[in-house]
Amino acid sequence: MHPLRSLILAAAGNDAIRRLVATAPVSRDVVRRFVAGETTADAVAVTREVVASGRSVTLDHLGEDVADVAHADENVRAYLELLDALHAEQLAARAEVSVKLSAVGQKLSERVALDNASRVCAAAEQCGTTVTLDMEDHATTDSTLRVLAELRRTWPSTGAVLQSYLHRTLTDCGRLASTRVRLVKGAYAEPAAVAFGGHEVDLNYVRCANALLAGDGYPMFATHDPRLVRIVGERARWYDRKPGTYEYQMLFGVRPDEQRRLAQEGETVRVYVPYGSQWYGYLMRRLAERPANTTFFARALVSH
Ligand code: FAD
Repeated sequence: MHPLRSLILAAAGNDAIRRLVATAPVSRDVVRRFVAGETTADAVAVTREVVASGRSVTLDHLGEDVADVAHADENVRAYLELLDALHAEQLAARAEVSVKLSAVGQKLSERVALDNASRVCAAAEQCGTTVTLDMEDHATTDSTLRVLAELRRTWPSTGAVLQSYLHRTLTDCGRLASTRVRLVKGAYAEPAAVAFGGHEVDLNYVRCANALLAGDGYPMFATHDPRLVRIVGERARWYDRKPGTYEYQMLFGVRPDEQRRLAQEGETVRVYVPYGSQWYGYLMRRLAERPANTTFFARALVSH
């Protein structure tokens, strides 16, 4: 294992380091830059701010890989509470939720994940908003797409996520091009047998973007990469796509000026806002998953 990776993973499991990070003034700023806070109220407050600046939001209640039914149920309840609050604050028209199936029981069984995700989708519909299913490591892709297909029978606007680093993704884009799809590069450490590396990931992102823009669905281009943002804009014009028939997405705290610039140009921009008490693992895992992510967060700090 990469020495930096094992160091970060060791820190991820260390309670003393967690307390230190949580209370040190500088790192508290770092955490607050990337995570909305721990509570539903924190998530709603950040959503209100982001929406007021002309951007939309997708909210992620942090928590992955639950190993028991009770914990999965807790995560579902957190989403239900959040959706109620967004509705009460009249924010639901501009704020959807992102759900990781592993946080609602996918490791227990696909059935548990489907039942739990259905509860979130039903609540989202009642509140006037939608759900996007985050995509996790490649071993879960087929299962996640099966659950998505089931959910879409009742809630057709449920969003998918496809990762351009996977060899399979151009084919998946073709199949799903008439639906709501978020396109990302992909955040997990994947074997070369299933995934591209380096520049090929970007080339495939452009191929996949073309496939989605050629369809009549609603593509959501989630990237901070200036080259890809520019190319997507050019390809959207080539396909005669008007702003509002697709959107850009970026993470909370990353390239906020670029987010505002795109929104001021009339583009739809959605900010992915994570919140919840599991923020420490989220930050650490993002750093550990791919060595490139370490520079990704470091760059965000110095470019503030
Ligand atoms: P990178 O390859 O990280 O960077 C490319 C270039 O972008 C850099 O060279 C630099 O010029 C610029 N850049 C990047 N970061 C910064 C920065 N902080 N400050 C200034 N410039 C910067 N992954 C999944 O696997 N599943 C998901 O469900 C998922 N959902 C996501 C949702 C959203 C809204 C976003 C934005 C990402 C999501 N991801 C997801 C993560 C994604 O797969 C990538 O790991 C992550 O976005 C980094 O790739 P990138 O395209 O931003 O560019």
